[in-house]
Amino acid sequence: MQKIHEPETIAAGNGIASDGAFGAVTPPIYLTSTFAFPSLEQSGPYDYSRTANPSRALLADTIARLEGGAGAVVTSSGMAAVDLLLSTLGPDELVIAPHDCYGGTYRLLNAKRERGHFSVVFANQGDETELEKAFEQYPALVLIETPSNPLMRVVDIEAIASRAKKVGAKTAVDNTFLSPALQQPLALGADFVVHSTTKYLNGHSDVVGGAVVAKDGADVEALASWANVTGVTGAPFDSYLTLRGLRTLFPRMEWQQENAMQIATYLSTHPQVAAVHYPGLVSHPGHTIAKRQQSGFGAMLSFELEGGLEAVRRFVAPLSVFTLAESLGGVESLVAHPATMTHVGMGEEGLKAAGIGNSLLRLSIGLEAASDLIADLEQGLKAASREAALASGL
Ligand code: PLP
Repeated sequence: MQKIHEPETIAAGNGIASDGAFGAVTPPIYLTSTFAFPSLEQSGPYDYSRTANPSRALLADTIARLEGGAGAVVTSSGMAAVDLLLSTLGPDELVIAPHDCYGGTYRLLNAKRERGHFSVVFANQGDETELEKAFEQYPALVLIETPSNPLMRVVDIEAIASRAKKVGAKTAVDNTFLSPALQQPLALGADFVVHSTTKYLNGHSDVVGGAVVAKDGADVEALASWANVTGVTGAPFDSYLTLRGLRTLFPRMEWQQENAMQIATYLSTHPQVAAVHYPGLVSHPGHTIAKRQQSGFGAMLSFELEGGLEAVRRFVAPLSVFTLAESLGGVESLVAHPATMTHVGMGEEGLKAAGIGNSLLRLSIGLEAASDLIADLEQGLKAASREAALASGL
């Protein structure tokens, strides 16, 4: 059998023409909850789909290969993947998490801490003094999210993973924002990668799913075993769709990030835009690290609009190419207001600590023509302007 090396080939070709029954080029979908036993006390390679299913196994294998891991567990959502990862911790153990992580992750960490599952320190991982103080408490796990959601802060995975190893801690990276096409945390020293496959890996906004990839085979086994115990594994149909989307991950990422760069550049010179957060801009504080540890700057960005919540309200109203919606990573462009949408679960205090204010808007850039996207933003910015506000009597 031909050995597949290049990641683009893995994405497009893993499992293609592997059907032994009829020679189907596209791997068939196994919509079954259970599998026949050949005889008593002897199961085949699969027995029950909560435990394992061929469609899910092929997706897990493809993601694991792309991330360079020993294996992966595919879950029913990104949050189920984060939860599965956190299940490795005990009540006496500590996790260091980013102070500005995805709102759902923040909420889960807090909920599990309150129930005594483990302790958490939320730290600004870009601040060495703060990080060092957290490391002095001997964490068991360091969770990294880079670039962070929604402020696009970039932290040095290699440096944090190497510091974590010194205190015997494992490092996990939420790689949702970049996907393995643009960042491979395991090669930088991380032990786990977490994904919301809902986003770039599927890429078509029609599935909710997740995955945990582990570098070490024993960790994969432990995660797979617990996923079977709790039943958080992903559905075969969702796995099939996600793999279908993943086939085009590389060209999607390439085009989407090209669009994002154009939009970030456009916004960064606009007088109504107070700040643009996009690691591709040379002015971004994480630009140098991003250039080193990523193979592209991605297609997510956020920006601060002059005029606060009222201006935001006027900005989103006339948009017709961008859709006001949560989520990201699909072929269509979305705009979200993190403080009232994706990150509302952080509460007022958490939002303040993370620096997520009312004037912040997050953009997920899709595959549309950049000129149409920019024209749409122009419409929004016109509507948000002070002149427009005065003319409408606001
Ligand atoms: N991690 C990140 C960085 C996310 O942005 C999200 C969702 O937006 C999640 C995890 C959770 O994923 P899901 O919505 O698939 O549960």
